[in-house]
Amino acid sequence: MKKRIVILGAGESGVGSAILAKKEGFDVFVSDRGKINDKYKNVLYKSEIPFEEGKHSESLILSADEVIKSPGIPDNVQIINKLNSKNIDVISEIEFAARYTNAKLICITGSNGKTTTTLLTWHILNKAGLNVGLAGNVGRSFAWQVAENEFDYYVLEISSFQLDGMFDFKADVAVLTNITPDHLDRYEYKFENYVRSKFRIVQNQTADDVFIYCADDPVIESELKKRKIEARRFPFSTQKELKGDGAFIKGNEILFNIKPNIFTMTIENLALQGRHNIYNSMAAGVAAKCFGISKEVIKQSLSDFKNVEHRLEFVARIHGVEFINDSKATNVNAAWFALESMNNPVIWIAGGVDKGNDYDILKELVKNKVKAIICLGKDCTKIKEAFGDILEIIVETTSMEEAVRFGLHLGEKDDIVLLSPACASFDLFENFEDRGERFKKEVRNL
Ligand code: ADP
Repeated sequence: MKKRIVILGAGESGVGSAILAKKEGFDVFVSDRGKINDKYKNVLYKSEIPFEEGKHSESLILSADEVIKSPGIPDNVQIINKLNSKNIDVISEIEFAARYTNAKLICITGSNGKTTTTLLTWHILNKAGLNVGLAGNVGRSFAWQVAENEFDYYVLEISSFQLDGMFDFKADVAVLTNITPDHLDRYEYKFENYVRSKFRIVQNQTADDVFIYCADDPVIESELKKRKIEARRFPFSTQKELKGDGAFIKGNEILFNIKPNIFTMTIENLALQGRHNIYNSMAAGVAAKCFGISKEVIKQSLSDFKNVEHRLEFVARIHGVEFINDSKATNVNAAWFALESMNNPVIWIAGGVDKGNDYDILKELVKNKVKAIICLGKDCTKIKEAFGDILEIIVETTSMEEAVRFGLHLGEKDDIVLLSPACASFDLFENFEDRGERFKKEVRNL
């Protein structure tokens, strides 16, 4: 009898998995408790893959040999508990898809900087002429591409939710950008659970593989003391000179030391500025060098990369007030880097869905750089509590139009109105892209 694969969640990764599972000859069924987007429904019809929406029928799901779960579905929902009690394996799309490709896999995770580092790495490899796919949280799903393309390399952006469903998967090159609290609501509010999840990026690696990580990150450093890492290590740092392989800052240059190659790149020549982007550029450069890409291509690519939307994106200057869209800053650490890189007084638009945020690390920066906070969200209590003693002006808003108007009203010449919410977006918006688009639209309407 054919092995039965059930896929929970019919988004990009679920439908991609269904296409691949069908191609590999499995008995496939897709179940989504919500409504399935028409685009994906049409694909399922066309591919003759049976599915249901608006419910999870236990009789159809608990008969699975293996289940592929969308990263959006938490581990503690009823249907997953039932699958666990029946000892049915629940895996992620990345785990599944990796079984069907021999491509080299460069896998990037971390609390922040994943998308930027993934796109930078892909950009270098692509420019070097490699046959390289881009997948994971960015673009089309990995499984879908494995089904339909023949790439020799993949650069994969991998979230902790994907990592949680990865068991036998092995990254040829693993990149860990940093670890700071995020998504704690999905990890029983225990940071150590989230840290453990992130470190799954190195599981199954051998001495032939590579692990690239930020040596300035105290959480990573302390975790490394406790663990045995089999892979070759390539740390990167902006704070200390590293003796062995890796990348660090010397004067105004990044020094890449990947023996037998050593080369430097002037920081001013990086396309992406700001300390966090030095890290991202170092990680991408080291990853590319591990595949033998020439220093010329790496340097050229790191300097001609086009910035990604919604990440510290300049929108407009109106009456001397600059508006910057950093809607992708969905946690406190991302907002920290955004605030840190601002050189003029900031009117900070923040708020949304709190993910167990601790605002303490922002207090010093807010004291030094922020003139006023515009809370944008259904519940602004936590932000008001955190910064009420520091700032006189904290206004509450529930629409982007209102928030942007307040920004202009409060801003003086050379001030910056920065949307860098430190929170998820789905109280008022569909997702962070929608939030960023609405910001840009309202700014342009001013
Ligand atoms: P992710 O995909 O991990 O969410 P992105 O590359 O989309 O990360 O960047 C999200 C936000 O995080 C950016 O807007 C920026 O403010 C911040 N950021 C980017 N890179 C880093 C980094 N290496 N360290 C800390 N913050 C970063």
